[in-house]
Amino acid sequence: MNFNGINFDTYFRNYPSMDGYFGKYGGCYIPDNLKKAMEEITEAYFTICKSSKFIAELRRIRKEFQGRPTPVSHLERLSNSMGNVQLYVKREDLNHTGAHKLNHCMGEALLAKYMGKKKVIAETGAGQHGVALATAAAYFGLECDIYMGSVDIAKQAPNVARMKILGANVVEVTHGLKTLKEAVDAAFEAYSREYKDCIYCIGSALGPHPFPMMVRDFQSVVGIEAREQFMEMTGELPDAVVACVGGGSNAMGMFSGFLNDPVDIYGIEPLGRGEKLGDHAASLTYGTEGIMHGFNSIMLKDENGEPAPVYSVASGLDYPSSGPEHAFLRDLGRIKYDVANDDETIDAFFKLSRMEGIIPAIESSHAVAYAMKLAKKMERGSILICLSGRGDKDMDYIIEHYGIK
Ligand SMILES: *Cc1c(COP(=O)(O)O)cnc(C)c1O
Repeated sequence: MNFNGINFDTYFRNYPSMDGYFGKYGGCYIPDNLKKAMEEITEAYFTICKSSKFIAELRRIRKEFQGRPTPVSHLERLSNSMGNVQLYVKREDLNHTGAHKLNHCMGEALLAKYMGKKKVIAETGAGQHGVALATAAAYFGLECDIYMGSVDIAKQAPNVARMKILGANVVEVTHGLKTLKEAVDAAFEAYSREYKDCIYCIGSALGPHPFPMMVRDFQSVVGIEAREQFMEMTGELPDAVVACVGGGSNAMGMFSGFLNDPVDIYGIEPLGRGEKLGDHAASLTYGTEGIMHGFNSIMLKDENGEPAPVYSVASGLDYPSSGPEHAFLRDLGRIKYDVANDDETIDAFFKLSRMEGIIPAIESSHAVAYAMKLAKKMERGSILICLSGRGDKDMDYIIEHYGIK
Protein backbone atom coordinates (compact mmCIF):
# COMPACT_ATOMS: atom_id res chain seq x y z
CA MET A 1 0.00 0.00 0.00
CA ASN A 2 1.25 3.47 -0.90
CA PHE A 3 0.46 6.35 1.41
CA ASN A 4 1.73 9.91 0.86
CA GLY A 5 4.77 8.65 -1.04
CA ILE A 6 5.72 5.89 1.42
CA ASN A 7 5.48 2.27 0.27
CA PHE A 8 4.19 0.31 3.26
CA ASP A 9 4.97 -3.05 1.62
CA THR A 10 8.65 -2.41 2.39
CA TYR A 11 8.19 -0.04 5.34
CA PHE A 12 9.83 -2.20 8.03
CA ARG A 13 12.90 -2.74 5.85
CA ASN A 14 13.36 1.00 5.33
CA TYR A 15 12.38 2.47 8.70
CA PRO A 16 14.32 3.26 10.72
CA SER A 17 17.34 4.05 8.51
CA MET A 18 20.67 2.40 9.37
CA ASP A 19 21.49 5.27 11.75
CA GLY A 20 18.13 5.10 13.46
CA TYR A 21 15.99 7.76 11.79
CA PHE A 22 12.29 7.77 10.97
CA GLY A 23 12.40 10.74 8.61
CA LYS A 24 13.95 13.50 10.74
CA TYR A 25 12.97 11.87 14.05
CA GLY A 26 14.93 9.41 16.19
CA GLY A 27 18.74 9.17 16.10
CA CYS A 28 21.15 8.71 18.98
CA TYR A 29 22.00 11.90 20.91
CA ILE A 30 24.13 10.66 23.80
CA PRO A 31 27.78 10.89 25.00
CA ASP A 32 30.40 9.08 22.88
CA ASN A 33 31.12 6.19 25.26
CA LEU A 34 27.42 5.34 25.44
CA LYS A 35 27.11 5.70 21.68
CA LYS A 36 29.63 2.87 21.40
CA ALA A 37 27.53 0.79 23.77
CA MET A 38 24.42 1.48 21.64
CA GLU A 39 26.32 0.48 18.49
CA GLU A 40 27.27 -2.77 20.18
CA ILE A 41 23.61 -3.43 21.05
CA THR A 42 22.50 -2.55 17.50
CA GLU A 43 25.02 -4.90 15.95
CA ALA A 44 24.10 -7.73 18.33
CA TYR A 45 20.39 -7.17 17.69
CA PHE A 46 20.77 -7.28 13.90
CA THR A 47 22.75 -10.53 14.13
CA ILE A 48 20.61 -12.18 16.76
CA CYS A 49 17.17 -11.26 15.43
CA LYS A 50 17.99 -13.20 12.26
CA SER A 51 19.19 -16.29 14.17
CA SER A 52 16.69 -19.14 14.19
CA LYS A 53 17.81 -20.10 17.71
CA PHE A 54 16.92 -16.65 19.11
CA ILE A 55 13.59 -16.58 17.27
CA ALA A 56 12.66 -20.08 18.43
CA GLU A 57 13.62 -19.26 22.02
CA LEU A 58 11.54 -16.07 22.06
CA ARG A 59 8.56 -17.95 20.57
CA ARG A 60 8.83 -20.66 23.20
CA ILE A 61 9.02 -18.09 26.02
CA ARG A 62 5.98 -16.23 24.72
CA LYS A 63 3.94 -19.39 24.61
CA GLU A 64 5.13 -21.24 27.72
CA PHE A 65 5.92 -18.37 30.10
CA GLN A 66 3.91 -15.33 29.01
CA GLY A 67 0.78 -17.20 28.00
CA ARG A 68 0.67 -15.92 24.41
CA PRO A 69 -1.19 -15.61 22.19
CA THR A 70 -3.48 -13.39 24.27
CA PRO A 71 -7.06 -13.51 22.94
CA VAL A 72 -9.17 -10.92 21.15
CA SER A 73 -12.57 -10.47 22.83
CA HIS A 74 -15.77 -9.09 21.32
CA LEU A 75 -17.35 -6.46 23.61
CA GLU A 76 -20.87 -7.49 22.79
CA ARG A 77 -22.83 -5.86 25.60
CA LEU A 78 -20.92 -2.57 25.43
CA SER A 79 -21.27 -2.44 21.63
CA ASN A 80 -24.99 -3.16 21.71
CA SER A 81 -25.55 -0.52 24.37
CA MET A 82 -24.16 2.12 22.02
CA GLY A 83 -25.50 1.23 18.58
CA ASN A 84 -24.28 -0.79 15.61
CA VAL A 85 -20.50 -0.43 15.75
CA GLN A 86 -18.81 -3.55 17.10
CA LEU A 87 -15.94 -3.11 19.57
CA TYR A 88 -13.19 -5.68 20.12
CA VAL A 89 -10.23 -5.71 22.51
CA LYS A 90 -6.79 -7.30 22.20
CA ARG A 91 -6.25 -8.68 25.69
CA GLU A 92 -2.73 -7.64 26.75
CA ASP A 93 -4.23 -7.53 30.26
CA LEU A 94 -3.91 -11.33 30.10
CA ASN A 95 -0.21 -11.26 29.21
CA HIS A 96 1.90 -12.45 32.23
CA THR A 97 2.34 -9.61 34.78
CA GLY A 98 -0.83 -7.98 33.44
CA ALA A 99 0.35 -5.70 30.64
CA HIS A 100 2.15 -5.52 27.31
CA LYS A 101 5.45 -4.32 28.84
CA LEU A 102 6.73 -7.85 29.39
CA ASN A 103 6.77 -8.37 25.58
CA HIS A 104 9.76 -6.07 25.13
CA CYS A 105 11.37 -6.77 28.51
CA MET A 106 11.66 -10.50 27.70
CA GLY A 107 13.19 -9.60 24.31
CA GLU A 108 15.65 -7.13 25.84
CA ALA A 109 16.69 -9.55 28.59
CA LEU A 110 17.12 -12.40 26.12
CA LEU A 111 19.34 -10.11 24.04
CA ALA A 112 21.37 -9.25 27.18
CA LYS A 113 21.82 -12.96 27.82
CA TYR A 114 22.98 -13.64 24.23
CA MET A 115 25.41 -10.72 24.50
CA GLY A 116 26.92 -12.31 27.62
CA LYS A 117 25.84 -9.46 29.93
CA LYS A 118 25.36 -10.14 33.64
CA LYS A 119 22.96 -7.37 34.49
CA VAL A 120 20.06 -5.28 33.22
CA ILE A 121 19.39 -1.76 34.49
CA ALA A 122 16.53 0.68 34.06
CA GLU A 123 14.65 3.50 35.70
CA THR A 124 11.01 3.36 36.68
CA GLY A 125 8.40 5.95 37.64
CA ALA A 126 5.19 4.20 38.64
CA GLY A 127 7.07 0.90 38.82
CA GLN A 128 5.39 -0.95 35.96
CA HIS A 129 8.51 -1.10 33.79
CA GLY A 130 10.58 -2.03 36.86
CA VAL A 131 8.29 -4.97 37.66
CA ALA A 132 8.29 -6.24 34.05
CA LEU A 133 12.08 -6.02 33.82
CA ALA A 134 12.58 -7.61 37.26
CA THR A 135 10.37 -10.49 36.06
CA ALA A 136 12.46 -10.95 32.91
CA ALA A 137 15.71 -10.75 34.90
CA ALA A 138 14.51 -13.42 37.35
CA TYR A 139 13.53 -15.68 34.44
CA PHE A 140 16.97 -15.43 32.82
CA GLY A 141 19.04 -15.31 36.02
CA LEU A 142 20.34 -11.78 35.39
CA GLU A 143 21.05 -9.17 38.05
CA CYS A 144 18.66 -6.25 37.91
CA ASP A 145 19.14 -2.67 39.19
CA ILE A 146 16.06 -0.45 39.08
CA TYR A 147 16.53 3.28 39.74
CA MET A 148 13.58 4.98 41.35
CA GLY A 149 13.06 8.37 43.02
CA SER A 150 12.27 8.32 46.77
CA VAL A 151 8.96 10.12 46.17
CA ASP A 152 7.88 7.37 43.76
CA ILE A 153 9.15 4.65 46.09
CA ALA A 154 6.86 6.00 48.82
CA LYS A 155 3.87 6.24 46.44
CA GLN A 156 4.27 2.88 44.74
CA ALA A 157 4.84 0.52 47.66
CA PRO A 158 3.19 -2.57 46.08
CA ASN A 159 5.38 -2.36 42.94
CA VAL A 160 8.51 -1.79 45.05
CA ALA A 161 7.61 -4.94 47.01
CA ARG A 162 7.05 -6.88 43.77
CA MET A 163 10.47 -5.87 42.39
CA LYS A 164 12.18 -6.88 45.64
CA ILE A 165 10.34 -10.22 45.82
CA LEU A 166 11.49 -10.85 42.24
CA GLY A 167 15.08 -10.31 43.41
CA ALA A 168 15.73 -6.89 41.87
CA ASN A 169 17.84 -4.24 43.54
CA VAL A 170 15.75 -1.05 43.89
CA VAL A 171 18.20 1.88 43.97
CA GLU A 172 16.70 4.92 45.70
CA VAL A 173 17.41 8.28 44.02
CA THR A 174 17.37 11.05 46.61
CA HIS A 175 18.36 14.23 44.75
CA GLY A 176 16.29 16.94 43.02
CA LEU A 177 12.55 16.31 42.88
CA LYS A 178 13.23 12.59 43.60
CA THR A 179 10.97 11.35 40.77
CA LEU A 180 11.29 9.92 37.25
CA LYS A 181 13.59 12.56 35.71
CA GLU A 182 16.23 12.13 38.45
CA ALA A 183 15.84 8.35 38.20
CA VAL A 184 16.58 8.54 34.42
CA ASP A 185 19.70 10.63 35.09
CA ALA A 186 20.93 8.28 37.83
CA ALA A 187 20.33 5.17 35.73
CA PHE A 188 22.19 6.69 32.75
CA GLU A 189 25.08 7.65 35.03
CA ALA A 190 25.27 4.09 36.35
CA TYR A 191 25.11 2.77 32.80
CA SER A 192 28.08 4.88 31.68
CA ARG A 193 30.11 3.27 34.48
CA GLU A 194 28.88 -0.29 33.96
CA TYR A 195 28.06 -0.65 30.27
CA LYS A 196 30.60 -3.41 29.71
CA ASP A 197 28.69 -5.80 31.99
CA CYS A 198 25.10 -4.72 31.51
CA ILE A 199 22.50 -3.32 29.18
CA TYR A 200 20.12 -0.48 29.82
CA CYS A 201 16.59 -1.64 29.06
CA ILE A 202 14.37 1.18 27.93
CA GLY A 203 10.70 0.86 28.86
CA SER A 204 9.00 2.11 25.71
CA ALA A 205 9.51 2.69 21.98
CA LEU A 206 11.79 5.66 22.61
CA GLY A 207 15.31 6.63 23.70
CA PRO A 208 18.41 6.47 21.48
CA HIS A 209 18.65 4.11 18.49
CA PRO A 210 18.26 1.07 18.46
CA PHE A 211 15.59 1.09 21.21
CA PRO A 212 12.63 2.60 19.30
CA MET A 213 13.15 -0.04 16.60
CA MET A 214 13.84 -2.96 18.96
CA VAL A 215 10.93 -2.25 21.27
CA ARG A 216 8.60 -1.88 18.26
CA ASP A 217 9.83 -5.17 16.84
CA PHE A 218 9.38 -7.01 20.15
CA GLN A 219 5.90 -5.50 20.59
CA SER A 220 4.80 -6.19 17.01
CA VAL A 221 3.65 -9.64 18.20
CA VAL A 222 0.58 -7.80 19.56
CA GLY A 223 -0.47 -6.46 16.14
CA ILE A 224 0.43 -9.61 14.22
CA GLU A 225 -1.61 -11.81 16.56
CA ALA A 226 -4.52 -9.37 16.73
CA ARG A 227 -4.81 -9.06 12.94
CA GLU A 228 -4.86 -12.83 12.49
CA GLN A 229 -7.36 -13.34 15.32
CA PHE A 230 -9.66 -10.59 14.13
CA MET A 231 -9.68 -11.97 10.58
CA GLU A 232 -10.46 -15.42 11.93
CA MET A 233 -13.32 -14.13 14.10
CA THR A 234 -14.98 -11.83 11.58
CA GLY A 235 -13.60 -12.72 8.13
CA GLU A 236 -12.49 -9.13 7.55
CA LEU A 237 -10.21 -6.37 8.79
CA PRO A 238 -11.40 -3.91 11.44
CA ASP A 239 -12.39 -0.46 10.15
CA ALA A 240 -10.36 1.23 12.87
CA VAL A 241 -7.62 0.34 15.34
CA VAL A 242 -7.13 2.34 18.56
CA ALA A 243 -4.38 2.32 21.22
CA CYS A 244 -3.23 4.66 23.98
CA VAL A 245 0.12 6.42 23.55
CA GLY A 246 2.46 7.21 26.42
CA GLY A 247 5.96 6.55 25.10
CA GLY A 248 4.24 4.56 22.40
CA SER A 249 5.20 0.89 22.78
CA ASN A 250 1.80 -0.85 22.99
CA ALA A 251 0.50 1.43 20.22
CA MET A 252 3.49 0.82 17.92
CA GLY A 253 3.18 -2.94 18.51
CA MET A 254 -0.51 -2.96 17.68
CA PHE A 255 -0.22 -0.53 14.76
CA SER A 256 2.64 -2.38 13.06
CA GLY A 257 0.18 -5.17 12.25
CA PHE A 258 -2.08 -2.75 10.33
CA LEU A 259 0.11 -0.05 8.74
CA ASN A 260 -0.09 -1.75 5.33
CA ASP A 261 -3.88 -2.23 5.49
CA PRO A 262 -6.78 0.06 4.54
CA VAL A 263 -7.55 0.60 8.23
CA ASP A 264 -7.87 3.92 10.10
CA ILE A 265 -5.38 4.06 12.96
CA TYR A 266 -5.77 6.24 16.05
CA GLY A 267 -3.17 6.90 18.76
CA ILE A 268 -4.79 8.34 21.88
CA GLU A 269 -2.99 10.71 24.23
CA PRO A 270 -4.03 11.77 27.73
CA LEU A 271 -5.73 15.18 27.85
CA GLY A 272 -5.78 14.99 31.66
CA ARG A 273 -7.57 18.00 33.17
CA GLY A 274 -7.46 20.12 30.00
CA GLU A 275 -5.47 21.88 27.29
CA LYS A 276 -3.26 24.08 29.48
CA LEU A 277 0.44 23.13 29.59
CA GLY A 278 0.96 21.12 32.77
CA ASP A 279 -2.59 19.75 32.79
CA HIS A 280 -2.07 17.04 30.15
CA ALA A 281 0.60 14.84 28.53
CA ALA A 282 -0.58 15.03 24.91
CA SER A 283 2.83 15.65 23.33
CA LEU A 284 2.00 14.69 19.73
CA THR A 285 -1.12 16.85 19.83
CA TYR A 286 0.34 20.01 21.42
CA GLY A 287 4.15 19.59 21.29
CA THR A 288 6.96 20.77 19.01
CA GLU A 289 10.14 19.18 17.67
CA GLY A 290 13.00 18.77 20.10
CA ILE A 291 15.69 16.48 21.51
CA MET A 292 15.45 14.89 24.95
CA HIS A 293 16.61 11.62 26.57
CA GLY A 294 18.78 10.79 23.55
CA PHE A 295 16.34 11.13 20.62
CA ASN A 296 14.66 13.72 18.40
CA SER A 297 10.85 13.73 18.47
CA ILE A 298 7.85 15.88 19.29
CA MET A 299 7.87 17.07 22.88
CA LEU A 300 6.14 19.39 25.32
CA LYS A 301 8.51 22.19 26.34
CA ASP A 302 8.44 24.83 29.07
CA GLU A 303 9.43 28.48 28.41
CA ASN A 304 13.14 27.53 28.56
CA GLY A 305 12.78 24.76 26.00
CA GLU A 306 13.19 22.09 28.69
CA PRO A 307 10.81 19.09 29.02
CA ALA A 308 7.60 20.54 30.50
CA PRO A 309 5.85 19.18 33.59
CA VAL A 310 3.02 16.89 32.50
CA TYR A 311 -0.03 15.34 34.12
CA SER A 312 -2.35 12.42 33.48
CA VAL A 313 -4.65 10.35 35.67
CA ALA A 314 -2.68 7.38 34.24
CA SER A 315 0.88 7.43 35.58
CA GLY A 316 2.02 5.22 32.67
CA LEU A 317 1.13 7.97 30.18
CA ASP A 318 2.64 11.05 31.82
CA TYR A 319 5.75 11.54 29.74
CA PRO A 320 6.50 14.84 27.90
CA SER A 321 7.34 13.18 24.57
CA SER A 322 6.56 10.08 22.50
CA GLY A 323 8.65 7.71 20.42
CA PRO A 324 10.12 9.04 17.14
CA GLU A 325 8.18 6.64 14.92
CA HIS A 326 4.91 8.13 16.17
CA ALA A 327 6.15 11.63 15.30
CA PHE A 328 7.04 10.39 11.81
CA LEU A 329 3.72 8.62 11.20
CA ARG A 330 1.87 11.66 12.52
CA ASP A 331 3.58 14.03 10.06
CA LEU A 332 2.93 11.54 7.28
CA GLY A 333 -0.77 11.41 8.19
CA ARG A 334 -0.81 7.61 8.33
CA ILE A 335 -1.86 7.65 12.00
CA LYS A 336 -4.25 10.16 13.52
CA TYR A 337 -3.49 11.32 17.04
CA ASP A 338 -6.27 12.50 19.29
CA VAL A 339 -7.03 12.76 23.00
CA ALA A 340 -9.24 11.47 25.81
CA ASN A 341 -9.50 13.41 29.08
CA ASP A 342 -9.56 12.07 32.66
CA ASP A 343 -13.37 12.11 33.02
CA GLU A 344 -14.07 10.26 29.77
CA THR A 345 -11.37 7.77 30.72
CA ILE A 346 -12.75 7.00 34.17
CA ASP A 347 -16.23 6.64 32.67
CA ALA A 348 -14.84 4.09 30.17
CA PHE A 349 -13.02 2.31 33.01
CA PHE A 350 -16.32 1.68 34.84
CA LYS A 351 -18.25 0.84 31.64
CA LEU A 352 -15.78 -1.87 30.60
CA SER A 353 -15.66 -3.27 34.14
CA ARG A 354 -19.43 -3.42 34.59
CA MET A 355 -20.62 -4.32 31.09
CA GLU A 356 -17.87 -6.77 30.14
CA GLY A 357 -16.24 -8.03 33.34
CA ILE A 358 -12.85 -6.64 32.34
CA ILE A 359 -11.16 -4.17 34.71
CA PRO A 360 -8.76 -2.21 32.46
CA ALA A 361 -5.65 -0.25 33.38
CA ILE A 362 -6.38 3.50 33.47
CA GLU A 363 -3.85 3.89 30.61
CA SER A 364 -5.80 1.45 28.42
CA SER A 365 -9.09 3.10 29.43
CA HIS A 366 -8.03 6.13 27.35
CA ALA A 367 -8.20 3.96 24.21
CA VAL A 368 -11.57 2.51 25.28
CA ALA A 369 -12.94 6.03 25.92
CA TYR A 370 -11.87 7.21 22.47
CA ALA A 371 -13.23 4.10 20.75
CA MET A 372 -16.60 4.78 22.39
CA LYS A 373 -16.59 8.35 21.02
CA LEU A 374 -15.53 7.08 17.60
CA ALA A 375 -18.26 4.41 17.60
CA LYS A 376 -20.88 7.13 18.00
CA LYS A 377 -19.50 8.98 14.97
CA MET A 378 -19.06 5.92 12.74
CA GLU A 379 -22.60 4.50 12.97
CA ARG A 380 -21.49 1.10 11.67
CA GLY A 381 -18.34 -1.03 11.27
CA SER A 382 -15.83 -2.36 13.78
CA ILE A 383 -13.11 -1.01 16.06
CA LEU A 384 -10.24 -3.04 17.50
CA ILE A 385 -8.77 -1.61 20.71
CA CYS A 386 -5.44 -2.51 22.27
CA LEU A 387 -6.20 -3.19 25.93
CA SER A 388 -2.62 -2.66 27.04
CA GLY A 389 -3.07 -3.81 30.66
CA ARG A 390 -5.30 -4.69 33.58
CA GLY A 391 -6.46 -2.38 36.32
CA ASP A 392 -5.44 -4.27 39.47
CA LYS A 393 -2.63 -1.78 40.03
CA ASP A 394 -5.15 1.10 39.91
CA MET A 395 -7.64 -0.15 42.52
CA ASP A 396 -6.43 1.97 45.44
CA TYR A 397 -6.32 5.11 43.32
CA ILE A 398 -9.81 4.58 41.89
CA ILE A 399 -11.37 3.89 45.28
CA GLU A 400 -9.65 6.88 46.89
CA HIS A 401 -10.53 9.37 44.13
CA TYR A 402 -13.79 8.13 42.67
CA GLY A 403 -15.21 5.83 45.33
CA ILE A 404 -17.32 2.87 44.32
CA LYS A 405 -19.90 4.67 42.22
C1 LIG B 1 3.28 1.68 30.64
C2 LIG B 1 1.93 1.45 30.15
C3 LIG B 1 1.40 2.16 29.04
C4 LIG B 1 2.16 3.24 28.33
O1 LIG B 1 3.30 2.84 27.67
P1 LIG B 1 3.42 2.76 26.09
O2 LIG B 1 4.87 2.60 25.88
O3 LIG B 1 2.88 4.04 25.53
O4 LIG B 1 2.64 1.59 25.64
C5 LIG B 1 0.13 1.84 28.60
N1 LIG B 1 -0.62 0.89 29.22
C6 LIG B 1 -0.16 0.21 30.29
C7 LIG B 1 -1.05 -0.80 30.92
C8 LIG B 1 1.12 0.46 30.80
O5 LIG B 1 1.57 -0.22 31.86
